[in-house]
Amino acid sequence: MNYGVDEHGFYGEFGGAFIPEMLWANVEELRSKYLDIMYSDSFQKAFKDLLQHYVGRPTPLYYAERLSAKYQTKIYLKREDLCHTGAHKVNNTIGQILMAKRLGKKRIIAETGAGQHGVATATVCALMGLPCIVYMGAVDIERQAPNVARMKMLGAEVRAAESGSKTLKDATNEAIRDWINHPEDTHYIIGSVVGPHPYPDMVARFQSVISEEMKWQLKQVEGREHPDYILACVGGGSNAAGAFYHYIDDERVQLIAAEAAGLGVDSGETAATSAIGTNGIIHGSRTLLMQTEDGQIVEPYSISAGLDYPGIGPMHADLISRGRAKAYSITDAEALESTLELSRLEGIIPALETSHAFACLPKMDLKPDEILIINLSGRGDKDLNTYMTAFEL
Ligand SMILES: *Cc1c(COP(=O)(O)O)cnc(C)c1O
Repeated sequence: MNYGVDEHGFYGEFGGAFIPEMLWANVEELRSKYLDIMYSDSFQKAFKDLLQHYVGRPTPLYYAERLSAKYQTKIYLKREDLCHTGAHKVNNTIGQILMAKRLGKKRIIAETGAGQHGVATATVCALMGLPCIVYMGAVDIERQAPNVARMKMLGAEVRAAESGSKTLKDATNEAIRDWINHPEDTHYIIGSVVGPHPYPDMVARFQSVISEEMKWQLKQVEGREHPDYILACVGGGSNAAGAFYHYIDDERVQLIAAEAAGLGVDSGETAATSAIGTNGIIHGSRTLLMQTEDGQIVEPYSISAGLDYPGIGPMHADLISRGRAKAYSITDAEALESTLELSRLEGIIPALETSHAFACLPKMDLKPDEILIINLSGRGDKDLNTYMTAFEL
């Protein structure tokens, strides 16, 4: 099974590799080798070893009894918040650092918005003893000071992107520029299922360990591998891709994607790409993105830095466009309400991104014998400042 991606990296009309000539050699090297490397016995052994002993996998599939009682259905939580570094992102950075080593690369670059992917990349670079440069918008460096400090403690160099709005999209542009200037020795660790082929497919495969575990874990407790629904938040879409992956061809499972509506889908302050996005090209792939009629990218907004992106991975653009996944647009206020609800009902403080997935629950028509899995993508420690302001703590 190739889960919808063809040999040119297209998911239906979305995907592909739209890159400057100067990057062609790098991307083609990765494209021609990634599957052979990834599915070699030695790679699989190293990857699984680190996931178990370093990341702490398998993560639990936890039955949320009080949350289930409130919504009159059966809700399980896939606890990616318990991964080392506090979110699912490390599944991908572990995979990509092993890939970089097998490609003989000596230098790692990455982009980051809130800093979570930067921290996960700096972590695996420390683990492998490779130099790490993280590009981050100057505005984000100001707003995300604790994560900047973490990256520095781990030995990474954080370089400020001073162009444009000085946020994630500008950091991505800087990282791409660096890669063009260092084609031989550098691997670019992209943090979500975005970018030119093969990145979306490669990142989805690394994250697919999430749904691989769900299948046997649900079988143990419910006697069947498939839930009725899987819910996940979508920024670029990597945690959702991992949670959906092994169920994409199983129509019994309804796939639910929660995206950030910010102040509201029509407010002009939003990141609800599937609701208001149109077909275009961003950071190397054709997908849905928020753009003006003449193709200028519209600045996104969400209270959650991890969902504050004007695009969406091509796999999700395809799943949503053909109706295989259903998207809900969740406002800042709805996400905050769900944060407190989960904290008080289950003793789990989620990341703000993750709260968007939980905020779908009141909007769904659920039945008592249905089984839901919510992918709990990350923990809320990093969002404490936002929570202190929002809840006047
Ligand atoms: C980065 C992040 C996200 C959004 O990224 P995806 O690629 O869409 O998964 C979601 N949740 C958490 C906790 C994150 O750190």
